Amino acid sequence: MPQEHGYWDPAVERLDREELTRLQERRLRETVEACSRSPYYSSLFRREGIDPARFRGLEDLRRIPFLEKQDLRDNPPTYFLTLPLDDMIRVHSTSGTTGQAVVIFHTREDIEAWAELVARCMYMTGLRRSDVFQNMMGYGLFTGGLGFHYGAERIGALTIPAGAGNSRRQVQLMLEFGTTAVHVIPSYALYLTEVFKEMGVDPRRQTRLRIAYIGAEPHSEDLRRRIEEAYGVKAYNSYGLTEMSGPGVAFECPEQEGMHVWEDSFVAEIIDPSTLEPVPEGEEGELVLTCMHRRGMPLLRYRTRDLTRFLPGECPCGRGHRRIARIKGRTDDMFIIKGVNVFPMQVEQVLLRLLGVGSNYLIQLERDGVRDEMRVLVEVTGEIWQGDVRGLRSLQKRIQEELRSEILVTPQVELVEPGSLPQSEGKAVRVVDRRGD
Ligand code: AMP
Ligand code: ZN
Repeated sequence: MPQEHGYWDPAVERLDREELTRLQERRLRETVEACSRSPYYSSLFRREGIDPARFRGLEDLRRIPFLEKQDLRDNPPTYFLTLPLDDMIRVHSTSGTTGQAVVIFHTREDIEAWAELVARCMYMTGLRRSDVFQNMMGYGLFTGGLGFHYGAERIGALTIPAGAGNSRRQVQLMLEFGTTAVHVIPSYALYLTEVFKEMGVDPRRQTRLRIAYIGAEPHSEDLRRRIEEAYGVKAYNSYGLTEMSGPGVAFECPEQEGMHVWEDSFVAEIIDPSTLEPVPEGEEGELVLTCMHRRGMPLLRYRTRDLTRFLPGECPCGRGHRRIARIKGRTDDMFIIKGVNVFPMQVEQVLLRLLGVGSNYLIQLERDGVRDEMRVLVEVTGEIWQGDVRGLRSLQKRIQEELRSEILVTPQVELVEPGSLPQSEGKAVRVVDRRGD
């Protein structure tokens, strides 16, 4: 265990499997007991014949039906509250990229427990009170802003609530305050490298950056490497979702080999989304999460729609909390083209490995008469764009061939000028499907 990456909460982080299981059993019982005070769960338990007083733990959890996003949309959020609304001090909501936003309420204790979790993640990766942390995530209802803000303040780092966007200002803040760590959407981090270039600032030499927390959207290992390379930082994958409070659910340790799910606070299951049965150990499926750190609005067996798998074996960092692989995407991100299932991540993996590919891309799906067409717009680097036309043609051909071998469909590939594709300050929009228009 490298000394510089210490434990924020050794008593919890160093628990072995047996101790973790015992803790989970106890906290699950408490959670189910609390749930029984909410209108939603008391009626669900009655319907399913579940007696909270006799609920023993992990085995019994399997008897509780999965909670779907639709359940959270169909019922008012107050139905899930175990305490009066007056006990709630904060509300957050999902970004609503896939429909109506979901609302989550928090008590003061819930906010504290969440801040502890985020602090644990940041400390694990080396953030200390001497650091200057610039939070480039949207503040407001989105959890990425306040979630990390509270975590960093708990550690005692100087925290800059920069918020999202305002790119030139972000660079100026980094220079002015000597920012050492940032929290940023990965697609935006890559875009920001262009802004650095325009401003004539070299992030590797002229900033003090050493850590980047990247999360909130699926991204490939190649995207991570590009960020690390461009900024001269270690970039750590951060996973979370509003329904489970936000960031702080699973996080990479210094080994950068999968994300530890904090099992003292969450029970993670991975299921086959079509059969709803658990997948065999180590196989890919949909992540299902139960939170045990939230008292005001606990949720049981929530179907995240995120695809991942458990990584086998122990992590060399010494933490016994199980690890999940990088999220491949959401089940609803997948699109079908010419009968083939494709995840945007597969396209990204191919693109970002190639020299000459710039910092943004967009997949467009169109219907040409009866035929579906897939078009991939790819920003190239300035050098390629200004170079001769042969360079462009050969890159275009190369991308097309590599995409065909990865996804088994031959897309049209269009190379475009750096900075010409729409850039989001929040989660990137990777696919535009116009087939239904
Ligand atoms: P929201 O609750 O609106 O912030 O969205 C949460 C969703 O963002 C998750 O369910 C994932 O689909 C996605 N997400 C968050 N963090 C990551 C990550 N590190 N990698 C991939 N997807 C992520
Ligand atoms: Zn580890």
